[in-house]
Amino acid sequence: MSQALWTQLKYFFPEKVCFGEPLKQYTSFGIGGPADCLITVETVAELRKVLAVMNDYQQTFFLLGKGTNVLISDRGIRGVVIRLAGEFTQAEVKGNELIAGAACPISLLLRLSIQHTLSGLEFAIGLPGSLGGAVYMNAGSKDVGIGSLVKEIHLVCPDGSYEIRSGENLHFSYRHSSLKPGEIITRIILKLREEGRKEELLSKMKEGYAHRVSHQPLREKSAGCIFKNPPGGSAGELIDLAGLKGFSIGDAQVSTIHANFFINQHQASCDQILRLMNLAQKKVHQFCGLALEPEVLIWGQSDDD
Ligand SMILES: Cc1cc2nc3c(=O)[nH]c(=O)nc-3n(C[C@H](O)[C@H](O)[C@H](O)COP(=O)(O)OP(=O)(O)OC[C@H]3O[C@@H](n4cnc5c(N)ncnc54)[C@H](O)[C@@H]3O)c2cc1C
Repeated sequence: MSQALWTQLKYFFPEKVCFGEPLKQYTSFGIGGPADCLITVETVAELRKVLAVMNDYQQTFFLLGKGTNVLISDRGIRGVVIRLAGEFTQAEVKGNELIAGAACPISLLLRLSIQHTLSGLEFAIGLPGSLGGAVYMNAGSKDVGIGSLVKEIHLVCPDGSYEIRSGENLHFSYRHSSLKPGEIITRIILKLREEGRKEELLSKMKEGYAHRVSHQPLREKSAGCIFKNPPGGSAGELIDLAGLKGFSIGDAQVSTIHANFFINQHQASCDQILRLMNLAQKKVHQFCGLALEPEVLIWGQSDDD
């Protein structure tokens, strides 16, 4: 990142930028070195202004949601990381539609859907990310992704233009949407169903959460499932069958509860998690010939670079 860009960002957004900010405090893994520059943006107008400055300097950026699906290098990010806050955390209900800013936590949307007796989002109970991150990843369970509920999204493109895109045009598939890097979702409209009773909805969610707590290490530092499930199979089962459940490298451990969750037990480094991932891929390949594909997004340089 150039000194001139540094000066511009500091001049235009004095309250919003942090230089050399450690990113581990912004990730559920508790892993991640410093970003050259972390900018917290609170309105669409502010976001477009930031992008205009970035464009002037041809600076690319990373967009961080709640950091629950990223593994960030211990060496951090040489460049700019943008986070959404302020108006992007607000949500409202109109009829059977949930209209929410991209930085809205999924937990808030679940509360709103119960209050308004809207069903459809129950599968997302216990999902710790933001709505924007969930839509970008098409997060969900094995059978259903949040993409199936998306009516439309509002986004700001890297050149600063504003666009509305329909859910159909996002071509959702397993843990994938057609959004391109640099396209920033600002607002999302989810279409839910007005059905059932509040108590039924609540008990369904309680049941779902209890199931999660008993099958996943939700209280540990992780990024959820580290690998995508191969078609028709379970990455966790394969890692378990390859004999790695509970295996550790330093403070990085394959969870003893769910082998597709890798845990930062204390002070694990990004490198330790990556070594554990490589080992799991190698062992599973030796065992059944399948190549596990990471679900977690890996950002920044590794120690080998
Ligand atoms: C304990 C635990 C359980 C989990 N369980 C599940 C699960 O059951 N199912 C599942 O699918 N996932 C699960 N996850 C993974 C994760 O929670 C989801 O992928 C989540 O939706 C990511 O949201 P986030 O805000 O944390 O995104 P981040 O991790 O911050 O970012 C993920 C990606 O989304 C992009 N992104 C974020 N916000 C926006 C935006 N506004 N516009 C455009 N792109 C954006 C980022 O640039 C990045 O590429 C789990 C994670 C944990 C820690």
